[in-house]
Amino acid sequence: MAYNLTGIPNMNRRNFLHLSALTAPALATQNSFASKLAPTKPIVLSTWDSGMAVNAEAWKVLVKGGRSIDAVEAGARQIEDMQNCCVGLGGYPDRDGIVTLDACIMDHNANCGAVAGLERIKHPISVARKVMDTTPHVLLVGNGAQQFALQNGFPKEPDQLSDDAKKAYADWLKTSEYKPQINIENQPKGGPFAPAFFPDGSPNHDTMGLFAMDAAGNISGGVTTSGMAFKLHGRVGDSAVIGAGLFVDNAVGAATSSGVGEEVIRICGTHLVVEFMRQGLSPEMACKKAVERIVKRDRVKAKTLQVGFLAMNKKGEYGAYAVQKGFVFSVKSANENKIHPSKFLL
Ligand code: ASP
Repeated sequence: MAYNLTGIPNMNRRNFLHLSALTAPALATQNSFASKLAPTKPIVLSTWDSGMAVNAEAWKVLVKGGRSIDAVEAGARQIEDMQNCCVGLGGYPDRDGIVTLDACIMDHNANCGAVAGLERIKHPISVARKVMDTTPHVLLVGNGAQQFALQNGFPKEPDQLSDDAKKAYADWLKTSEYKPQINIENQPKGGPFAPAFFPDGSPNHDTMGLFAMDAAGNISGGVTTSGMAFKLHGRVGDSAVIGAGLFVDNAVGAATSSGVGEEVIRICGTHLVVEFMRQGLSPEMACKKAVERIVKRDRVKAKTLQVGFLAMNKKGEYGAYAVQKGFVFSVKSANENKIHPSKFLL
C-alpha cells in the first residue's frame, strides 16, 4: 500500500513495521487503547496503517456532522483509488491473472449490501452501497455484479494489471504455488511461517475494513479488498460476507477483520465478536475470544496464517486481537489520529 506515514514515498506496511521500532513513540503502546482516552464520537477506525489515509477521508464526512454510512463509503473509496497490492483494481490478481474484487457495507439499521468477484469496476464499495440502497438483495456476484454496476453507471475500466501486480504475477507464475500467506512482523522470507511472501518480500493481507460512529451515535462499516493474491478464480473471502468480514449492530458495536478469509468465515468471525461484546466483553477481549476460536480448532495450522479482528462498542471503546504479531489498525477521533499495534495470541 502507499500511505505515506513519514513523508517517505512508497512506504508500505512491511517497511512501516520495520521502521516502527524507530518510531515507537508515535505508536500507542499495546495496553493504552481506550483506557487512557475518554471514548468519543465521531470516531473512525480502519485496519492496517493504510487506514490513516482512509480515516482522513471518512473524517471529512464525520466532522461536518455527516452520516457514518457516507463516511465509511468515502474512506473505502480512498484506498480503492490507490495502487494497492490488496485493494481495488491495482490489487494482485487470482491465479488466472484476473483481479476480482470483494466488498460489503452495513449501516446502523442492519441494511447491508455486498459484491463478490467483481471485475473491472473501480469502486466495489459503492456498488455494494447501491445493492444495499436500491435492491432487495444483499450480495451480487461475478458477472451479475458487474452487469448491475454497469447498469448503474459505474464505468468499465481497462482489462489490465497494475505494474506491481504484473510483476508479482509473473514471479508467482514461476512456481504457481498456492500457499495462503501471513504477515508477521519481521518474518524473514522463507521462514517457517512464511513460505510464500510476495516476490518483493511484502506480506499479502491488506484488506481494508473500517467502521465509524457519527455524531448522532450511529455506527456503519465497510470492507473492500482484491482478496487473497493468486487465489482460485471464483474464490470469495470473508470481505464480502456480512457476519464474517464485517458486522454492525447499532445497539452493541461493530467489528471487521483482515487475514485468511476462510478462517473468518468458518467461525462467522465478526458476528461472533459483536455477540461477545453484547455479552459484556470489551472490544479487545471479544476479538481475543474470536482469535482463540480459530487457534483452538487447529493450532498447528494457526501458526501458518494470520487473522486480525478490530472492534468498537457503542461507547466508542475499541480494541483488536490477531493470531500473530503484525496486525495494526488506525484510529481517528477528536482525541487522536494514530496507528496502534494489535495484541496477538501466538
Ligand atoms: N480477508 C481477505 C480475504 O480472505 C484477505 C486479506 O485480508 O488480505 O479475501
